[in-house]
Amino acid sequence: MAIPSFVDRVKFTVSAGKGGNGCASVKREKFKPLGGPDGGNGGSVILRVDPGLTTLVEYHRQSRRAAPNGQPGTGDVANGANGEDVVLRVPEGTVATDLETGELIADLTAANPEAVIAQGGRGGLGNAALASPTRKAPGFALLGEEGESRLVQLELKVVADIGLVGFPSAGKSSLIAAISRARPKIADYPFTTLVPNLGVVVTEAGTFTVADVPGLIEGASLGKGLGFDFLRHIERCQAIVHVIDCATYEPGRDPLTDLDVIEAELAAHGGLEDRPRLVALNKVDVPDAADLAELVRPELEARGLQVFPVSTKNGAGLRQLVFAMAAVVRQRREIEPEVPRLVLRPKPVDAGPEFAISKEGAGEGFVWRVLGAKPQRWVRQTDFGNAEAVGYLADRLARLGIEEKLLELGAEPGDAVAIGPGDGAVVFDFAPQVEVGAELLASRGEDQRLRQVRPAVQRRRERDALYHSEDMVDGVPDDTGE
Ligand code: GDP
Ligand code: MG
Repeated sequence: MAIPSFVDRVKFTVSAGKGGNGCASVKREKFKPLGGPDGGNGGSVILRVDPGLTTLVEYHRQSRRAAPNGQPGTGDVANGANGEDVVLRVPEGTVATDLETGELIADLTAANPEAVIAQGGRGGLGNAALASPTRKAPGFALLGEEGESRLVQLELKVVADIGLVGFPSAGKSSLIAAISRARPKIADYPFTTLVPNLGVVVTEAGTFTVADVPGLIEGASLGKGLGFDFLRHIERCQAIVHVIDCATYEPGRDPLTDLDVIEAELAAHGGLEDRPRLVALNKVDVPDAADLAELVRPELEARGLQVFPVSTKNGAGLRQLVFAMAAVVRQRREIEPEVPRLVLRPKPVDAGPEFAISKEGAGEGFVWRVLGAKPQRWVRQTDFGNAEAVGYLADRLARLGIEEKLLELGAEPGDAVAIGPGDGAVVFDFAPQVEVGAELLASRGEDQRLRQVRPAVQRRRERDALYHSEDMVDGVPDDTGE
């Protein structure tokens, strides 16, 4: 008999598409001076809950999922097409983490069923979109941005109010079947349950969900390394119910020992100490089992546990057990009306302060480090081979107040200013030109090709204004002869 495949932890790389570059084209038709269209956005990789799924097996053998790039804006025709999103269907309770940073990316529930795990790069604006009263015919376009790429881990964490724990064949699946509409597999062999079953229990005292935590002991006792792993599924339960087999004749087994073994596993897993416990002494339809249950009951109660002799076969005791479960869930909900679940929402673009500046290093090698979603994005969008594009970047940075802030912090002309984190930063020489700001704005707005011959000095001044990057100096022919 095949063991049902249950995969509840996978990892693979997700890569979103790059945004297409914007196009800089100039049309000479009347009333249509400018036609450079925008690049399309890169496709994103998205997780979406599919209520029909219970495992992550689909992603088991995958190493990479990628969304297509956005197309560049083309000629004078059309905006580039967006890359299509790639939607990965996952079961409810899937948690996505970035394995390199440890960051929690998504925590999916029915109420929060979708999350972008790799954001597609934005398409660059074409020059048509960049025109303004002071920049009537820009001769440049913005570059498309890279899509996000990360190594993610998807983990399935069942979301239920109550987790059932116990030895194999104690009757966990039978209990779920008896008290809810779920119809889990019930069998005698040790791999009874490898998929967590979720049942919804409806009572007069309230509705709650029960998860049949699979394979707690099976894997551990067989050295398969399975059992322990599954405990993660009950991390989110409000309460734990021990299902104990009172009818087993296996050597070394008795209700108290079984309980201790399971508790030791819970303790080793950690983090579950505060969860209330109930004990279901199962199979009391068997006469010996009923006697044993009565025998151990006082001892369990002496430990402060609520004890319920039950039979999933004939229904004995189930009403009381279900009532107690509902009460415990209700109490917990009162203590923590907001279940401490993290609901992640897509980060709004450019949230928080616009930028932060810090001085890094000392002596000769110090830099002013500028971090912020906007300035970093603007740098990525800039074609450093185009002086006008660099000028546009300088304008944007100045308008955000970066130059002012640098001066306020004591930056001096010639200091190194790095935009972005680490080695990937673009480094500029700080060259504040506050007094010529107005003149610059006016001259930069003009299209180079409309002024066929522009004074070299003017171009030089534009280029040196505010900031200039080494990239730019390399990328622009230095023909001023100075
Ligand atoms: P699980 O491994 O804990 O999920 O256990 P199952 O629900 O699959 O049950 C294991 C075996 O115990 C099955 O053969 C069930 O029919 C049997 N069983 C479950 N509950 C009872 C009960 O109340 N009385 C008796 N006699 N057998 C039961
Ligand atoms: Mg089972």
